[in-house]
Amino acid sequence: MERDVSLRLPPEKAYDESRLRKALGIGADDRFIIVRRSVDARRKDIFIDLTCRINPEKPVAEGMSLRDADSARGQVVIVGSGPAGLFAAMTLLENGIKPIVLERGKDVHSRRVDIARISTQDVVNSDSNYSFGEGGAGTYSDGKLYTRSKKRGENSKVLGAFVQFGASETILCDAHPHIGTDKLPKIIENIRNAIISHGGEVRFQTKVTGLIIKDGKCIGVKALELLTGSELTIEGPVILAVGNAARDTFRMISEKGVKLEAKSLAMGVRLEHPQHLIDQIQYHNPEGRGKYLPAAEYSFTTQVQVEGRRLGVYSFCMCPGGFVVPAASDKEQVVVNGMSPSNRGSKWANSGMVVEFPVDLLGDDNNPLAMMEYQQELEKKTYDASNHTQCAPSQRITDFMEHRCSTSTAPSSYAPGLTASDLWDVLPTFACQALHDGFAVFSRQAHGFMTDEATMIGTETRTSAPVRMTRDPETLESVSTQDLFPSGEGAGYAGGIVSAAVDGMRCAEAAARKILS
Ligand SMILES: Cc1cc2nc3c(=O)[nH]c(=O)nc-3n(C[C@H](O)[C@H](O)[C@H](O)COP(=O)(O)OP(=O)(O)OC[C@H]3O[C@@H](n4cnc5c(N)ncnc54)[C@H](O)[C@@H]3O)c2cc1C
Repeated sequence: MERDVSLRLPPEKAYDESRLRKALGIGADDRFIIVRRSVDARRKDIFIDLTCRINPEKPVAEGMSLRDADSARGQVVIVGSGPAGLFAAMTLLENGIKPIVLERGKDVHSRRVDIARISTQDVVNSDSNYSFGEGGAGTYSDGKLYTRSKKRGENSKVLGAFVQFGASETILCDAHPHIGTDKLPKIIENIRNAIISHGGEVRFQTKVTGLIIKDGKCIGVKALELLTGSELTIEGPVILAVGNAARDTFRMISEKGVKLEAKSLAMGVRLEHPQHLIDQIQYHNPEGRGKYLPAAEYSFTTQVQVEGRRLGVYSFCMCPGGFVVPAASDKEQVVVNGMSPSNRGSKWANSGMVVEFPVDLLGDDNNPLAMMEYQQELEKKTYDASNHTQCAPSQRITDFMEHRCSTSTAPSSYAPGLTASDLWDVLPTFACQALHDGFAVFSRQAHGFMTDEATMIGTETRTSAPVRMTRDPETLESVSTQDLFPSGEGAGYAGGIVSAAVDGMRCAEAAARKILS
């Protein structure tokens, strides 16, 4: 009979199957799965808290139940094949409706070549990069699957779907699940093949250049086939899931009269430490993490007072055992982000260290693209500070705290290379002051955090979308345009892989309700 057992074990027992079986009092033939696993590293003696299910009767999370598309139910155009677009497509198929996914970038494998060229040749392809291409920004990422959303049913459906298409079942139990950039492309490819095998379409290198709007209703899109230069018109209601980097598309829909508003976002730098140092700090052990424990993570947050404002400063999207990557999506930009492989085995730990940029700071109430333009200027300024290459400006944290330019760059995982700089000349003064004061707080909380070995790399600007496409909370359609369902991170309704996937599912459900009613 199925039963759950909770245990608190030292790492060497928790991560060794035969010793775990012994602790559970079960034999080699008994079936069990771990349904919850977290590391408790608050004290010197570290424990793993586990809940194990013995003789499980059903999977921990259900995935997607795709049906074949029924031509009588019509079709829906999905712009973008990121998590929002792909989960929208699968949800439409659960309802028997045909999705047509249009993606400006290349398939996951061809995309890899363009991503490598950013580091090796300083060339950014504005349709194929870390943001654009099959799987969206989530493909060449850490694949962290945490979300602050408490909607457990929807979140676990997303995790279940990732397992269904090839992810390890550990993502269903770990408190901080992640897939890893080495595993994600195959999973994304499996999702695409499932969509196609059930009658959906996925078209790469097909950039949507216009919305067709008639009497306040979106009836399709205009698109450009990038390989042939042919223009296409595709009809149907539209789920717009273009991610946070599609500035040309934000401009296009703004010109079309789709209601947008500027949105606050957070910007700052990537901070990189040697991983062994973070392991030593977090596991309170000069030896580091040892044989069993995972690469340690951290999470910092504080509020600081700068120029009469209270601003949040926090770590974001931490990548233990990972790499800092060049995430520019167009020419004349330097943007950094982070990713890690499934084993989190690199010798580096990085995270975004960011400051809130409230919209009212810009003093431009009437321009919905004001934050996007500000973000773009900062990325251009970073490019100028990089001598017009992808060699990102960097500064040792100790130099930053003393307001002096670093004379040398610290070793780093960032492949294009670093330029020794004074980041006070790159980021706005209020942001530098906020980071400075935030770091002072964090270094009091984590002895060893403030070290010459820690490097700040500029700049992290893509923490979320700079716009929100205002939508009706009931129908999830744009408030200005019927049958247009803005979705995911680019629409301002998600931040991360899981929340974007959940929002894609919700928008597809809303579109399906309307079609089938
Ligand atoms: C390097 C990196 C690491 C990250 N790590 C993590 C992580 O570990 N965990 C996490 O939760 N989040 C992570 N993120 C963020 C995460 O990837 C995004 O939150 C998520 O992908 C957003 O999903 P989305 O579907 O809304 O948009 P996106 O994933 O951005 O997808 C949008 C897609 O739309 C396409 N598109 C844009 N314009 C057009 C157009 N006009 N026509 C056709 N197609 C278009 C783009 O090419 C893109 O493929 C990371 C992001 C990056 C860049």
